[in-house]
Amino acid sequence: MRRAVFLDRDDTLIENGSLPWERVGAPRGDLCDPAWVRLLPGAAEGCRVLAGAGYALVVVTNQGLVARGVGTLEDVERTNRRMVELLREGGVPGLAGIYVCPYHPRGTVAPYNVEHEWRKPAPGMILSAARELDLDVSGSWMVGDSARDVEAGIASGIARERCLLVGPSREIPGLLEAARRIVGS
Ligand SMILES: [Mg+2]
Repeated sequence: MRRAVFLDRDDTLIENGSLPWERVGAPRGDLCDPAWVRLLPGAAEGCRVLAGAGYALVVVTNQGLVARGVGTLEDVERTNRRMVELLREGGVPGLAGIYVCPYHPRGTVAPYNVEHEWRKPAPGMILSAARELDLDVSGSWMVGDSARDVEAGIASGIARERCLLVGPSREIPGLLEAARRIVGS
């Protein structure tokens, strides 16, 4: 079984909070336009370091904007494809999987307007990925920028110390530093 690094998408791999939302033309945080996909500094290099060490890279991302009617699942998938394209241009061989949770209990668009076991902080996306891709969860890591990412990792069976929070104001500023910590551990 392969070990994985589960990666949050927004503000872990690609910009979100720092985008000029008044120009993006969507509610703040709801990125579903490929034209606004920008890799964060160190994201591609961090992925290369992890892939080079043999980790499967699996993105697990909440996109409740689908349930809220801001965009469609196809918009989210187009956005994800643009991210993969930019990662590839940055020398990343590829991702083992991208898991999207389009559900939100306060959404308006059926059938997505319900709570769902995939929605972080629940561990459903990680557990589904582990099953489908034959991944060793206990030997895996989670990297994200918010508490619910860490909570999802812990709930899936990843040890707390293997769930890393990244961000400009955090101890680990970005994915590259997280990757170095993972590979050096
Ligand atoms: Mg995030």
